[in-house]
Amino acid sequence: MKQKSGNFTIIVLVLLTIVIWLVFPPKNPGNENIMRAYVGEILGSILIVLMSCSLFLSTRPKWAEPFFGGLDKMYITHRRTSTSAFLLMFVHVLTVPISTTNLRLGNYLAMVAFLGILAIVLPTVAPRIPFLSKLTNSTYEGWKKLHRFIGIFFITGFIHSLTIKGLDAFIAINWVQIFFIIGTASYLYTEVFGRFLRKYVPYTVEAVNHPNNSTTEVVMRAKKDSIQKQRAGQFLFVRFPQDKILNESHPFTISSAPREDVLRVTIKASGDFTRHLFSHLQAGMDAIIEGAYGMFDYKTGGKKQIWVAGGIGVTPFLSFIRDMDRNLSHDVDFYYTVRHREEAIFLDEIESAAKKNPRLKVHIRFSSADGSLTVDEIVQNAGGDPSTRSHRPDDFSGGQALSGHHIYMCGPLPMVQAFEKKFIEAQVPAENIHYEEFNFR
Ligand SMILES: Cc1cc2nc3c(=O)[nH]c(=O)nc-3n(C[C@H](O)[C@H](O)[C@H](O)COP(=O)(O)OP(=O)(O)OC[C@H]3O[C@@H](n4cnc5c(N)ncnc54)[C@H](O)[C@@H]3O)c2cc1C
Repeated sequence: MKQKSGNFTIIVLVLLTIVIWLVFPPKNPGNENIMRAYVGEILGSILIVLMSCSLFLSTRPKWAEPFFGGLDKMYITHRRTSTSAFLLMFVHVLTVPISTTNLRLGNYLAMVAFLGILAIVLPTVAPRIPFLSKLTNSTYEGWKKLHRFIGIFFITGFIHSLTIKGLDAFIAINWVQIFFIIGTASYLYTEVFGRFLRKYVPYTVEAVNHPNNSTTEVVMRAKKDSIQKQRAGQFLFVRFPQDKILNESHPFTISSAPREDVLRVTIKASGDFTRHLFSHLQAGMDAIIEGAYGMFDYKTGGKKQIWVAGGIGVTPFLSFIRDMDRNLSHDVDFYYTVRHREEAIFLDEIESAAKKNPRLKVHIRFSSADGSLTVDEIVQNAGGDPSTRSHRPDDFSGGQALSGHHIYMCGPLPMVQAFEKKFIEAQVPAENIHYEEFNFR
């Protein structure tokens, strides 16, 4: 419940905004457009509250992680609040009455804010829209640079709101101004002051290993103090300032155990940064680390657990396995699925950990040879009978074998989403399903 309270607070703030506008309506008798202006301002106010929350979340407030379930989940909320604000922006523009003959400064500022946000948000949503994705081929870094300007248009929108005349709603307008201030301060923190206030810890790359022909294991040692105490399964942001391409901060799970005196990250070559890292990163280079973040922690789950790793999603589980001593206090079935045998990394280490820990059972799947892993198989292995499922989606009596299990997943998003749905059908309570989100965009 606590992990959902952040999202709940945002919903409450939106509802409160509506209530404030309804309880303290504008006092403009005789104005013929008052109703449209009133509705338009309510919509505009909600969009400002949502954008402000979104800007606040991008400051990466570590203290807020427990209220969202980790920084990776905060980025999902960031994405949802910005998308909702973006959609509301259109409705706001269509609703407020605009005089085409008597345009004022406020109207021009509104246009600048609208077009600026549109230009920034379209490349974000384009990859998810089949037609647009073919037209846009922007990299994540390109998108991120563009994304940095969003606050400028938020501030333009703020100035636009100050120019609003003819709407006498002192309390509601002042309530919204609070969010403008929070949003603006958050933006300035993210883009200007944060670099002076955040803790960036210098490390040295001690070794660079290649467990297969597309993966790099980077071993890093602190130059002086190491990052604050971390838990197994957390992630960090790292950049390597001596190389122009590698000087961009990227998130990676810490695959070493917290008690090790070095930090290890294991990185799959998948795009510009990670491919360049595979061929150019060398021992002796500097690394700058921020973190650790995240709340993907098996120790907080129940006694019976199922871990599912797809491809490079094995990294948090490597950290779990390296962290556990011989007396594992949970019964774990660990499913590690990759397409081909060559893709599976640290297999010997995982299997030898299973030999030492009788409560850890490892199931390796090479999907090109043995077919894809399914939730039905997992249910069967846990003692359930998937064939007893009726046509009613809520009736999966065979899956009751899993109702007390906690599920931990990390892997390709479509796999994680499909498995989550199936596990819920198999009567696993939604709050028992935990996953690490590898995609921030
Ligand atoms: C919490 C978390 C933990 C991760 N752990 C691992 C790990 O242990 N091993 C691993 O190989 N990969 C991990 N990733 C994924 C890794 O961050 C991306 O694969 C990598 O940043 C891709 O960068 P690229 O330039 O090579 O690829 P691109 O093709 O440019 O990017 C591919 C996708 O990666 C994401 N991405 C790229 N750059 C960034 C960035 N600076 N910040 C946030 N997201 C970005 C975006 O969603 C983008 O669409 C993790 C991601 C997250 C969010």
